[in-house]
Amino acid sequence: MGRIVLDQVSKTFGDVEVIPPLDLTIEDGEFTVFVGPSGCGKSTLLRMIAGLEDLTSGAIEIDGEDVTEVSPSKRGLAMVFQSYALYPHMTVRKNIGFPLRMEKMQQTEIDKRVETAAQSLNLMDYLDRKPGQLSGGQRQRVAIGRAIVRDPSAFLFDEPLSNLDAALRVGMRLEISEMHERMRTTMIYVTHDQVEAMTMANKIVVLQAGRIEQVGSPLDLYHKPQNVFVAGFIGSPK
Ligand code: ADP
Ligand code: MG
Repeated sequence: MGRIVLDQVSKTFGDVEVIPPLDLTIEDGEFTVFVGPSGCGKSTLLRMIAGLEDLTSGAIEIDGEDVTEVSPSKRGLAMVFQSYALYPHMTVRKNIGFPLRMEKMQQTEIDKRVETAAQSLNLMDYLDRKPGQLSGGQRQRVAIGRAIVRDPSAFLFDEPLSNLDAALRVGMRLEISEMHERMRTTMIYVTHDQVEAMTMANKIVVLQAGRIEQVGSPLDLYHKPQNVFVAGFIGSPK
């Protein structure tokens, strides 16, 4: 499960309409990338899906249920932020299990889920370390682990790799793609990086000034850009 439908969703801050009403459907299991220049509204759109930002108009449906008025924690989504705020005094095990302890889940169930998450993210050997003893990439994986344990219907990533150096970024891209291959859970991934979009996405949503310029597969966008903006942004030879 994890089909997300945006129906005439818009956002105005003060008297500035940063996102005019837009429609978008994200199919269950799809890896969708929102790409566009800085300030085009990617984070705002993602935050509205997550429930962290009110809609000015429109509605959002997840798996057939209208969640427009549903609080973030009840939407069944996992948000992985740009700056991965891990608790420095807690071990990896405690960090990953933290959301479950908040939900007052039984300790044996927490342990089981943390181990499963750690296995799928290659963190088994690091469970007793603290964030300060980990590399940037490992810390990023812990942040993702904290999202996985809640078994969300979709993952929302907001430029999760922008704090990492170039070499690490390539490795993490691959890891997130592999995670999607294994889990087949819906993922929405925000980036301003065209290469990231082209290499990771099943479906790319190109945004400019809050408007959707084109929606399509990487190949669609490369071979059939609908306008000059998309062509220029994706770096097509034309
Ligand atoms: P992106 O993530 O694509 O860089 P954002 O969604 O962060 O873009 O921002 C889109 C636009 O909305 C920008 O012009 C930004 O300045 C504006 N904006 C974002 N959040 C707020 C806010 N809380 N109050 C006022 N303006 C905002
Ligand atoms: Mg942003």
